[in-house]
Amino acid sequence: MSQVQDFSAHTPVMAQYLRIKAEHPDELVFFRMGDFYEVFFDDARKANALLDITLTARGQSAGQPVVMAGIPVNALESYLAKLIKLGEAVAIAEQVGDVATSKGPVERKVVRVVTPGTVTDSELLADKQDSVLLAVVAQGKTFGLAWLSMTQGQLGLAECTDKELPSWLARLSPAEVLVDREKQPAAVLAAHVPITNRPSWQFDTALGARKLCEQLAVASLAGFNAQQLSAAQAAAAALLSYAEHTQGRALAHVKSLSVQRSGDLLDLPPATQRNLELTVTLRGETSPTLLSLLDSCRTGMGSRALRHWLLHPKRERAEALARHGAIDALLQGSPEPLREALRQVSDVERIAARIALRQVRPRELTGLRATLQVLPELQRLVPAGSALLDELATGLLASPHIEELLSRAIADEPAVLVRDGGVIADGFDAELDELRAIQGNCDAFLIDMETRERARTGIPNLRVQFNRVHGFFIEVTQGQVDKVPLDYQRRQTLKNAERYITPELKAFEDKALSAQERALSREKLLFELVLDQLIAELQPLTRLGRALASLDALAALAERAATLRWCRPEFVNQPAIDITAGRHPVVESRLRETGAGEFMANDCHLDARTRMLMITGPNMGGKSTFMRQVALISLLAAIGSFVPADACRLGPMDAIHTRIGAADDLANAQSTFMLEMTEGAAILHSATDQSLVLMDEIGRGTSTFDGLALAGAIASHLHDKSRSFTLFATHYFELTEFPAKHREAINCHVGAVESGDSIVFLHEIQPGPASRSYGVQVARLAGMPASLVRQARATLEALEAKAGEGRAQIDLFAPAPAATMATAVTEATSALHLAMDDVDPDTLSPREALALVYQLKSLS
Ligand code: ADP
Repeated sequence: MSQVQDFSAHTPVMAQYLRIKAEHPDELVFFRMGDFYEVFFDDARKANALLDITLTARGQSAGQPVVMAGIPVNALESYLAKLIKLGEAVAIAEQVGDVATSKGPVERKVVRVVTPGTVTDSELLADKQDSVLLAVVAQGKTFGLAWLSMTQGQLGLAECTDKELPSWLARLSPAEVLVDREKQPAAVLAAHVPITNRPSWQFDTALGARKLCEQLAVASLAGFNAQQLSAAQAAAAALLSYAEHTQGRALAHVKSLSVQRSGDLLDLPPATQRNLELTVTLRGETSPTLLSLLDSCRTGMGSRALRHWLLHPKRERAEALARHGAIDALLQGSPEPLREALRQVSDVERIAARIALRQVRPRELTGLRATLQVLPELQRLVPAGSALLDELATGLLASPHIEELLSRAIADEPAVLVRDGGVIADGFDAELDELRAIQGNCDAFLIDMETRERARTGIPNLRVQFNRVHGFFIEVTQGQVDKVPLDYQRRQTLKNAERYITPELKAFEDKALSAQERALSREKLLFELVLDQLIAELQPLTRLGRALASLDALAALAERAATLRWCRPEFVNQPAIDITAGRHPVVESRLRETGAGEFMANDCHLDARTRMLMITGPNMGGKSTFMRQVALISLLAAIGSFVPADACRLGPMDAIHTRIGAADDLANAQSTFMLEMTEGAAILHSATDQSLVLMDEIGRGTSTFDGLALAGAIASHLHDKSRSFTLFATHYFELTEFPAKHREAINCHVGAVESGDSIVFLHEIQPGPASRSYGVQVARLAGMPASLVRQARATLEALEAKAGEGRAQIDLFAPAPAATMATAVTEATSALHLAMDDVDPDTLSPREALALVYQLKSLS
C-alpha cells in the first residue's frame, strides 16, 4: 500500500489506522468507529469482493480519496463467519481509550486476530468439528508437525517423512496451516487448506523447546518423550507464537501435549479416507458417511471425540479393548438414561478454553453451572464393570468451589453481554447491590416527587418522568404552564406540553445516572474477578470436558451397537481377518431407510495361509460393497466400536490401503490411468504383511491388454512381496487363474442368477470364480435397446471363442524378465507396443490415424 509510507500527511484517524494496518499487513483490519467496523483501501476492496458490501469514499487523506466499507458492530459475527470460511484472517481493532476524555482520535488497539485455525467463538465454530491450527516445517528429510486445538487446549507434536505427510494432513484436517514463507512444503500446497506464511526465523528448534517448556510449565520435554523431535519443536515455535499473537494473550488453558508417532497409528491414507467415505461422501457431502451413521452423540464434545477416534485409530489395541469393555458394560443395562442426562450438558471443553482466553460469555457460565449440577446424576448413571467407565466417572468431578462460585456470582438469567449489565447476581457484592438500589429507588422517588409537586403547584396532571434520551423531567400540559413556579427551568417544548427540570430533580438525575454507570463498571470488574477464580480451576474443568466427551462418545457407540445389532469384536495376535456375517453399515442402513430390501451379510475368512481373495462377478454384484465392509469393520474394531457382523476376530493391522476407481480426479487434472497407477504405486511401496489392501478394478483405465498385464503384475507383487491381506476385485476373467499359481490366494465371486435374458444379483460372496461376464445382461437391465443387446451378445461370443484359442500361449503371471512393474507383458501386447512406440497422437493427421488403426488391426 503506497498510502502507508508517510503517516504524518494523513488525518489523525487515518494515521492511526495506517499504523495499525502496517502491523497487520496480512490480515483484514476491522477498525472500530462508533457503531461500525470500518475497512479501508485495499482491505475495503477485498471486503467488497468477498462480502458483497458497498464501497464508499470518506473524503480525502493525504490527497488520496479514502476508499472504505463498513460493517455494523452487531453484524460482526456473521461477517467473521463468512471470512473464516473463505480462509481469511481478521484483526479487530477496538476503541480502548475513553471517548469522552480523549483529545484527538480515541486510542485503538488490535485486541484479537481471528483466523480459521484460532477461532474460539461458538458462533463461528462448527459444533461437531474441531478447529485445528497446524504448523509444518521441513528439516532435511524430516517434516516436523505441531498442532493446537485452541478450543480443546491440546497440543500435538509429530514427525514424519515426505511420503507420510499427506496422511497426516488428511487425518488432522487442519483449518489453517502455518508454513515457512521461504520453503512451503508441496504436500501442504496440494492439500487445499488455508495457508498462512510465517517468517523463517520463527521455525526455530531452540525457541520451540523453550516455548513448549514455558507453556507446559516443565523443565524438560523428556517427560513427554519429545526432547528428540527437533523438527516438531521448530514447528511448535511458530505455532505458539502465532497462537499467542492472534489471541493477544498467553494461552493459559493449553497444558497438555501428546506426541504421536507415525508408527503408533493405523495408517489411513487420504485415498482410504475418501474411498471409505469416513467423514465425507465421494460427492463431498457429510452424510451418509460412516461418521454420520456413528454419531448419535448428545453433545458437540462427544461428536468431536468420535471424529477424532475415527481418524486416529491406534495400532496398539489396549485402548480399543477398553472401549469395547465399556460399551459392553453400558449394554448390560440401557445407555438411554445416561444419554438423556447428557442432553443437559454444555460444551464444557469450549467453555473452559474461552474462560482461559477471557472470552467467555455470561450465558456460557450459566450453562457450565447447569452442567455441574447434573454431574452427580450422571455419575450415578455410569454403570460399573468397566475400568474405563470407572475412570471416566471419577473424572466427573469439578471442584465444588466452581459450582458454588457460579451459583453465588452469576444471575439466574444473565444478559448476553457483560456490558449490558444484569450479569452478576444480587447479593454477591454489597457495593453493586447499593448502586442497584439507587436505580431501583428511582420509581419510588418519581412517584413521591410527583405527588409533592402536584400539591405545591396545584397542577393536577403534572407528571415526573424519565426517558433514555432526555433523562428526568417534569411535564406540564400547555394549558397549565402559567402555574409553573419560578424554580422550574424549561428543558424541552412539545406540541401540547412543556418539560422542565428543577435543581432537586437534576441532583437526583446525576445520582441515578452515575449509579447506573458505576454499577456497570462494577459488574465488569466483578466478572473479571470471577474469571480469575475460574482460571485458577482450569485443569479440573478441562479434565471434566474430556471425561464428558468420552462418555458421550461411548454411550453413542453403545446405542449404535444396540440399535444396529452389532457385535463385540475380538483381537488375536496371529494374522486374521475373520468375519462372520459382516455387513456394510452405511449401505445396510440406506437399504433399510429406503425399504429397498434386506442387506445380504457375507463372511470373510483370511489368515496366515489365505491372504488374498480374487473377487469376480458382474458389475453391480456387490464387490465394492463387500471389500469396503471388510475395511470398515476392521476400522470400527480398531477405534473401539462394536462392528456390523455376527462375529469378528482380527489380528494386528498397520494400515488400510485402497485403490478404488472413483470418478476422474478433475481437481488434480490427472488422467484416470495416471491416478490409478500413482495410487497403486504408493500402495505397493508401503503395504506390509499387516496391511489390508483393497484393489478395485485396477487396470481399468487403460487398454484391455495393458490393464490385464498390470493387474496381474500388481496382484503378484501384493501376494509375493507385500504379503498383505488383499481383496482384489477384477473384471479380468484371466485373473481367476491366479490362485492356481499362488498358494495364498483363492477365488470367490458375487453370486447372480440369470433368468431369461435378465439377471438377479444375490450379493452373496460364493467360493470359486464367476462363471462368465454378465456385462451384457447388466446393459439390458439398464434399459439398452433389445437389438443392441442381441448384437453385443453375438460379438461377445465371437470374442470369447477367439480369446480361448490364444490364451493357452500366454502366462500372465510368469516370473518377471526385468525388474519393472509391467513385467507380465505378453507377446501379443509387445507387438502392439512396438507398433505404438513411434506414434505421437498429438501430431497425427486424421488420415495417418486411420492408417494406424488398420496397421494395429492387422497385428492383433
Ligand atoms: P460392484 O462393485 O460389484 O459393481 P457394488 O458393490 O457397487 O457392486 O454394489 C452395487 C449395489 O448393490 C450397491 O449400491 C447396493 O445397493 C447393492 N448391494 C451390494 N452389496 C449388497 C449386499 N450385500 N446386500 C444387499 N445389497 C447389496
